[in-house]
Amino acid sequence: MSQLRPMIIGLTGGIGSGKTTVCQMFAKRGVEIIDADQIGRTLVAPGSIALQQLIALLGQDLLTADGSLQRQRLRQLIFSDPHARHQAEAILHPLIRSAILEKINESASSWLILAAPLLLESKSYDFADRILVVDTDETLQIERTRERDHCSEDEVHRIMQIQLPRTERVARATDLIHNNGDLANLDRQVAEYFERYEKLAHARQYTTPGL
Ligand code: ATP
Repeated sequence: MSQLRPMIIGLTGGIGSGKTTVCQMFAKRGVEIIDADQIGRTLVAPGSIALQQLIALLGQDLLTADGSLQRQRLRQLIFSDPHARHQAEAILHPLIRSAILEKINESASSWLILAAPLLLESKSYDFADRILVVDTDETLQIERTRERDHCSEDEVHRIMQIQLPRTERVARATDLIHNNGDLANLDRQVAEYFERYEKLAHARQYTTPGL
C-alpha cells in the first residue's frame, strides 16, 4: 500500500551560491529543511562506523587526537585526489541517502526542502520532485565564499571544478533563484516560491512508491 509523503524540493547550487541563506529564508516561513551536509557530519561523529570505514580507507592522520574527523584535511585530500573522493563518496552517499529517506518517511509536512550541494552530481537524490537551483555569478560566488571562509581563490576554483558547470546545473532546474542582488531581493524570490510550493503541495498528493 502506498503512503502519502511530502513533496520534495531538492535545493542545490554551486559553492557560495547562497543555499544556506535560502534555506534559512524558507525555514523562517516554517518550512522543514533536510540538510544532506548536516546529516553527513552527524554520520561521521567520533566512534561511528562510517568514520571507522573512512579512516581504514584514507588513513589515520585524518583523525585529531580526540578521535574526531579533521574536516579540513579530508577536504584537501578529496579535492586533490579523485580516487580518494570516490572512495569517501562510496561510503558516505548511501548512508546519507538512507538517513534522508528515513527523515522523509517520518515527516508530517506537505512539502519540504532537501538541500544538497551535490544533488545533481550524485545519483543519491533521484527522488526529488522538483529541483530548485540557486544561481549566482561566478565572481560573486568566489567573492562571498572567500569572505565567509577566508580561503584562497584557488581553493574555491578547485571546488567549482568538481561541481557541475553552472549552465548545466541551470539547464536541469525546474525552479530557479537568481542570487546576484541583495538579501532583500533574495527573500522576495523565496517568498514567491514559498507561495507556489504551498499551492502545488496541496493540489497534488505524493505517494511513496520506491521510497
Ligand atoms: P556552500 O556551498 O559553500 O555551503 P552556500 O551555497 O550555502 O555555500 P551561503 O553560505 O548561503 O552559500 O552564502 C555564501 C556567503 O554569501 C554567506 O556568507 C552569505 O551570508 C553570503 N550571501 C548569500 N547571499 C547573499 C546576498 N544576496 N547578498 C550578500 N551576501 C550574501
